[in-house]
Amino acid sequence: MAADEACPMKGGDGPNSYAKNSIYQKGAVDAAKELLSKAIAEKLDLEILLASNSTFQIADLGCSIGPNTFWAIENILEAVELKYQIQGMKKSPITLEFQVFFNDHTPNDFNMLFKSLPLNRQYYAAGVPGSFYGRLFPKASLHFVHSSTAIHWLSRVPKDLADRNSRSWNKGKIQFSHSSDEVIRAFEAQFSEDMECFLNARAQEIVYGGLVALIVSGRPDGTPHSDSSLNVIYHLLGSCLMEMARKGVVSEEKVDAFNITMFYMSPQELKAAVELNGRFTIECMENLPRLSTIDNVTESPQLIASHVRAVTEVLFQQQFGDEILDELFDLYRTKLEEKPSIFDPTKAINFLVVLKRQAN
Ligand code: SAH
Repeated sequence: MAADEACPMKGGDGPNSYAKNSIYQKGAVDAAKELLSKAIAEKLDLEILLASNSTFQIADLGCSIGPNTFWAIENILEAVELKYQIQGMKKSPITLEFQVFFNDHTPNDFNMLFKSLPLNRQYYAAGVPGSFYGRLFPKASLHFVHSSTAIHWLSRVPKDLADRNSRSWNKGKIQFSHSSDEVIRAFEAQFSEDMECFLNARAQEIVYGGLVALIVSGRPDGTPHSDSSLNVIYHLLGSCLMEMARKGVVSEEKVDAFNITMFYMSPQELKAAVELNGRFTIECMENLPRLSTIDNVTESPQLIASHVRAVTEVLFQQQFGDEILDELFDLYRTKLEEKPSIFDPTKAINFLVVLKRQAN
């Protein structure tokens, strides 16, 4: 199998960085806080907590560079502490310690992540490089796995798309949602394969009874890929790139060969993958409330453009070079301004899924 393709967010803390342009993703972390605390209070086995040998091990998969990952970890720690104080302390007085593993692809700006670790943190921090579609941790070494707005990145462009003579050659597009049935099927197959790898790896790494909490950026059940608002805004970005290709600013061939691997799954699709895998029970699956901070982003052409840039700039840079970035994202912002209601809030969701590892 080919190595997973990295999709690093824009590093550093400059004006185009992910750290400065990820309010949307923060909105998902904030919106999940209450449900996540409830899931920890109700679904995390006290025995797991107390048998953790006083060190509770947490991993955040696809953490990027912060600060959202730090908020997410704070929320988890707070809820686990509370559960211990209310239910565990009397049974077994231990000094609970936390170790947090921050995972992302190797090219992620881990330096920036480590430099910005909260000074008053109540946990030991470690970085774990590598793809979450493979094994990252020793067997049964984690008690809690978290991942927020990350598993919509597939591991790779489906290999059928590499053949320019096949019906899956994605001509003139940068993602799959508005493409032929062949292209859509290739992405759906890649999604199923990736989810199986993801769940198999976690099933080995997490202790029996341990929890996996996934905050997923997706589309509502029954929504075709081409109607999903997140896909619609990326499709528009692709049309800007094609406009530049027609003007000769970028090579059309390079556009044809370029594919972004985001797959906005529906809750139903994730449920089917978990059931097929069979190692986890679904303890909670709920759409998250839409916070006004998220609407502020999706109603602003400027903010959509800067968010999309922070997420995709590195990929465009690798394929087309530095020189096209400003022109591309300026054109994109202008096109977004021409379509102020392009982001239909009913066609994009963030949802929370909490899974529990079953004993074999
Ligand atoms: N969780 C963070 C970052 C979300 S951005 C937040 O809430 O702000 C998505 C992150 O997932 C990116 O940093 C990207 O590099 C990472 N990612 C995507 N696919 C990955 C994979 N297969 N393995 C590890 N990290 C991955």
